[in-house]
Amino acid sequence: MEDYLPISFFREFFFCKRIPYFYFRNINNESKALFYKQGVEFQIEKIKNLKKRLIKNLNFPDGKLYYNKNVFSNNYKIYGICDLFIETTDNIYPVEIKILTKRVRKGHIFQVYAYGLCLEEMLNKTFNKGFLLYGKRAKIYYIERNKELDEEFKNIYNKILELICMNYLPSSSATIHQCAQCEFLNLCNDRNI
Ligand code: SF4
Repeated sequence: MEDYLPISFFREFFFCKRIPYFYFRNINNESKALFYKQGVEFQIEKIKNLKKRLIKNLNFPDGKLYYNKNVFSNNYKIYGICDLFIETTDNIYPVEIKILTKRVRKGHIFQVYAYGLCLEEMLNKTFNKGFLLYGKRAKIYYIERNKELDEEFKNIYNKILELICMNYLPSSSATIHQCAQCEFLNLCNDRNI
């Protein structure tokens, strides 16, 4: 999977373009790995408690739920771990869980999209809808697949490729608030924070 992109880059790209750039160079990611693991465990635990509500609200009484699945796509050259997905006879529905997030961001939408594309290819089923569960009450945001989003996904993929291959540190539009919660703050002392 050396030349495959981690799906988390799609979220990070929208948060700050420097983050995929640093990750691609394997800079300082131990603390993030621990934080990520704790975050995933917390989210999975939470969502298992929400299972009945999820099935009822999403209206898939016969759907099977799978948690924490390694996914990849050879067509798109991406890989990652999908928090949760629902499988029915003909379709798959990726679900991304962001319990600690108060509002939906574009990066979250493309993360769900990427999982859907992987699952479609791996399981040979149709991906036409996905969900984001966000906030402490696990509100549901619906993501419909369409041609425009397919195109945008490919454009973002190409932009990420360009970005990580740059020979210089990309500029960033991250706010002070974003930088304050970022593990790479010590590498970005050009921003007068
Ligand atoms: S500290 Fe700020 S500018 Fe640097 S990578 Fe993090 S968010 Fe981006």
